Amino acid sequence: MEEIKDDPMAFYRNEDPRCPHCLESISISDNELWYLYQEECHEIDCPNCGKEFAISSEATWRFTTAKEIDEL
Ligand SMILES: [Zn+2]
Repeated sequence: MEEIKDDPMAFYRNEDPRCPHCLESISISDNELWYLYQEECHEIDCPNCGKEFAISSEATWRFTTAKEIDEL
């Protein structure tokens, strides 16, 4: 676990936010943290260790295309 703690990339742009205190990945759905999908900075109490940490949320867009709109 020490390796993760010392690696800033372990906390960067993860699919699930990782607590910088206990290093757990926090499941958005298991913890019903849907508001984290708003693109802004948040402060939460870690559901695993209870310590507060900050999260910056960022959305990734995907585009699906078809020849006609009713095919989407
Ligand atoms: Zn934690």
